[in-house]
Amino acid sequence: MTKIPYKIYLEEKEMPKQWYNVRADMKNKPAPILNPATLKPVTKEDLKPVFCDELIDQELDDTTPYIDIPEEIHTFYKMYRPSPLVRAYYLEKALDTPAKIYYKFEGNNTSGSHKLNSAIAQAYYAKKQGLKGVTPETGAGQWGTALSMACSFFGLDCKVYMVKVSYEQKPFRREVMRTYGADVTPSPSNTTQVGRQILEEFPGTTGSLGCAISEAVEAAVTNEGYRYVLGSVLSQVLLHQSVIGLETKTALDKYGIVPDIIIGCAGGGSNLGGLISPFMGEKLRGERDYRFIAVEPASCPSLTRGKYAYDYCDTGKVCPLQKMYTLGSGFMPSANHAGGLRYHGMSSILSQLYADGLMEAVSVEQTAVFEAAQKFARVEGILPAPESSHAIRAAIDEALKCKETGEEKTIVFGLTGTGYFDMTAYQKFNDHEMTDYIPSDSDIEKSLSKLPKID
Ligand SMILES: *Cc1c(COP(=O)(O)O)cnc(C)c1O
Repeated sequence: MTKIPYKIYLEEKEMPKQWYNVRADMKNKPAPILNPATLKPVTKEDLKPVFCDELIDQELDDTTPYIDIPEEIHTFYKMYRPSPLVRAYYLEKALDTPAKIYYKFEGNNTSGSHKLNSAIAQAYYAKKQGLKGVTPETGAGQWGTALSMACSFFGLDCKVYMVKVSYEQKPFRREVMRTYGADVTPSPSNTTQVGRQILEEFPGTTGSLGCAISEAVEAAVTNEGYRYVLGSVLSQVLLHQSVIGLETKTALDKYGIVPDIIIGCAGGGSNLGGLISPFMGEKLRGERDYRFIAVEPASCPSLTRGKYAYDYCDTGKVCPLQKMYTLGSGFMPSANHAGGLRYHGMSSILSQLYADGLMEAVSVEQTAVFEAAQKFARVEGILPAPESSHAIRAAIDEALKCKETGEEKTIVFGLTGTGYFDMTAYQKFNDHEMTDYIPSDSDIEKSLSKLPKID
């Protein structure tokens, strides 16, 4: 048997030339997104003031399985892709498990995460449409960074709304964005109407992704020549992120490896959706079976404790509504929650797949996540992002189950990024000051009671 190398690299020519749209193979399509004013399914015209034209087509396309990656995007991808698929031999040894563990590493670019895969695509379509610039929100900062890089590449203006707690905790992240020419505003801010409203209702709030989205959308529709760009949740983002899964599949196929379990952390669902898409396609077409596991923080558990219902995608209720697993658009994760994955909802694609029993979900507490991060960093050499470490936690747990049963399962997980800008959280962990917070049932019920009433 051929020895599997530590890193399976692909050649440039093996990179995918098309994105894969998993919706084409879904029997139950994600429910249509609704216009917040009329509560009717959105039309292309409704979305035009907010999103770039070509991205709207991608957002609404439930039927085309493969969509060409434009040449400019494909060439940009070559700067940092294909990304390696790593066999975690040292982690397997440390765990003394018969399981075979692989991870797809997306942290090999300055933004430090997979987000650049969609940022460059969205910036490209904005440029092609002749726009002046874009207005992203950013939570932990990776999307803003990725977009700043993509905008500077295409000469677009980039106005970032950054969740206030991250703006304060991650000044270096902010400076990376400014180095790439972006303008960064802490959210909620008094530069938008919705920001002023949120500040009035929740004085002293450290912000949330939902608030930042509302501000970024308002900035897009009130500034001529600007559009909003979102780094997760949307179906177009999962489409762009399918490069992760397509490369992973090509690399595994080269060595005849068939995974049993595929694991990803889930904030809005883009890396997980991208990683599992081609494998889910096989499952949906009845060709092969896999277990898919979404891993979310116990402090923001949309799949495991949320409700599958129509909800607003943002706190200010200016975005379209989407049917998804949600904790309610007003849900604010506890301030002690350290790393990312703070979004109240989940991709409509993943929500439908989860509702149909095609995917599993688990939630993990942050101290357990950082324990996994530390273990991984010490044996595999990479300092993982806290978000990615949710997937590491679940991969370790599955590998430990294999140790008990003696099963030689093959586990693949997405290592979405590096954690160099998360050292405040690591410091808390190292000083044994990190705590876990799990919202009570009544916290969640209270937030869910404000869901819009739509059948
Ligand atoms: C944004 C981010 C995530 C979570 O976003 P998804 O859309 O759920 O993938 C995970 N890991 C890293 C490093 C991120 O930057």
